Amino acid sequence: MIGSHLDEAIASRIALVRQQLPESVRLIAVTKQVSIDAMRSAYAAGIRDFGESRVQEAEAKQLQLQDLPDITWHLIGHLQSNKAKKALAHFQWIHSLDSLKLAQELDAKAGALLQQPQVCLQVKLLPDPNKYGWTVPQLIADLSELDRCQNIQILGLMTIPPLDLPQAEILALFHSTRELAEKIQGQNWSRIQMQHLSMGMSDDYLLAVQAGATMVRLGRTLFGERG
Ligand SMILES: *Cc1c(COP(=O)(O)O)cnc(C)c1O
Repeated sequence: MIGSHLDEAIASRIALVRQQLPESVRLIAVTKQVSIDAMRSAYAAGIRDFGESRVQEAEAKQLQLQDLPDITWHLIGHLQSNKAKKALAHFQWIHSLDSLKLAQELDAKAGALLQQPQVCLQVKLLPDPNKYGWTVPQLIADLSELDRCQNIQILGLMTIPPLDLPQAEILALFHSTRELAEKIQGQNWSRIQMQHLSMGMSDDYLLAVQAGATMVRLGRTLFGERG
């Protein structure tokens, strides 16, 4: 697709999705493997939140989008601790914080850089060998250590359902994630906050919103299938 056709196609998809979302839900456009032109079209259509899975891909794109100053960048893929410092330089939000060790590493690096990144804790409500993240018992056990992190702002939970889960079970899983967030919030930690739920991708975002998602992460719905 060329120029204005691309603009129009993406703008109409964004408008359609936006209509389905409550105004309070933040729409994060997931742009892994998406071209700079398509990202510019999304920006022109009002998108200001971009999600990337890899630090390096985001870094390269940010160089090419320097003229667009008001973008918030969200890291949604697994972060290796040796890239923690780099992630802090390129993302305001990290949705995929998935272990205590990584949290502590990121917290130390953030302190040295005087940064306070916003993060979600990635949880697995069902066993899933293909995904990173805390199981519920692991997370509960790690909360007191996580609450000691001084620099990262822990603001909610992120989850990804296992592939091919039936719709009713996906909805149940999103509800359980919300209940987990409420339970943690009710424990009145001194630093941990649970006002955000990052859940919902192209195939399940309406279920996620139904269960109380505050951020949805959409790729294919906005940009089409990835190459
Ligand atoms: C790729 C990805 C998305 C977007 O997926 P779509 O199915 O294209 O909407 C959302 N979240 C994470 C963590 C991803 O890796």
